[in-house]
Amino acid sequence: MKVLVATEKPFAKVAVDGIRKEIEAAGYELVLLEKYTDKAQLLDAVKDANAIIIRSDIVDAEVLDAAKELKIVVRAGAGYDNVDLAAATAHNVCVMNTPGQNSNAVAELALGMMVYAVRNFYSGTSGTELMGKKLGIHAYGNVGRNVARVAKGFGMEVYAYDAFCPKEVIEKDGVKAVGSAEELYKTCQVVSLHIPATAETKNSINYALLKDMPKGAMLVNTARKEVINEAELIKLMEDRADFKYITDIMPAANAEFAEKFAGRYFSTPKKMGAQTAEANINAGIAAAQQIVGFLKDGCEKFRVNK
Ligand code: NAD
Repeated sequence: MKVLVATEKPFAKVAVDGIRKEIEAAGYELVLLEKYTDKAQLLDAVKDANAIIIRSDIVDAEVLDAAKELKIVVRAGAGYDNVDLAAATAHNVCVMNTPGQNSNAVAELALGMMVYAVRNFYSGTSGTELMGKKLGIHAYGNVGRNVARVAKGFGMEVYAYDAFCPKEVIEKDGVKAVGSAEELYKTCQVVSLHIPATAETKNSINYALLKDMPKGAMLVNTARKEVINEAELIKLMEDRADFKYITDIMPAANAEFAEKFAGRYFSTPKKMGAQTAEANINAGIAAAQQIVGFLKDGCEKFRVNK
């Protein structure tokens, strides 16, 4: 069996070593395609691969057509909107993600960016504190739960809304569950976004939802840029001089945000929520283990194209 690691942005060496150990211990061969610059290289590399580990790499119908021997693709990470799930299902290819492996990294960054913003981007001027503020967690999945854990340590009053997670599950963590996204945004001065990018959520964070946030509102986005209706967020920030937008996923309209909203807009230069040594190693090794579990025992626990 041939397992391909296809990463435009490679894993750290220690993660690749861990992946290799898992794959070779199972008696399989590991092949690396790192820092590729052209899709043709990927199309060539997938030809005889039985399994592929990717990061943000695009696996579309063309890649799946070229991968005649492919049985499984594992996205080392949480979001899998870079894989064409319908095409994978049509090609009889199992797609998995590695949930939870990078969620502490993303949560720590979300809280770090909150502190950075309320302390006026470390300008040396007097800021405000997070303690006592109401934090709304929009989607109580792996990242959302870690944000709740850390935010409670800061003394924040934590609320959450999740379309699919039962209220009791949220409340057993000492977090107040609300019944709708609208209620969450009306209640909380700070909202941290953790919804996946789906047909339903894309563009869903819009003017109507954000306009009723309390005075001094701040939206923190470590989810996906596609969930934001950027034109409407710009309009809202023009109408509300008290509103801050902080993200590690640079908006398409970054230049406009930066020019118009200096002092209340911040984006990291590159997506970096999961960019820690720990998350890199955890997600890479989990991907390798899931491939071995699938190929040897048919384990489909983390399958996302059911
Ligand atoms: P997860 O799958 O554990 O949790 C997602 C949660 O969203 C689930 O609880 C689900 O019930 C909820 N949900 C789905 N649709 C919803 C909707 N319409 N309204 C409300 N809730 C909804 O995923 P996670 O590990 O917590 O990651 C969340 C997202 O964060 C990922 O999908 C990914 O897009 C993003 N992410 C970003 C980075 C980064 O580097 N910035 C890293 C990891 C994940």
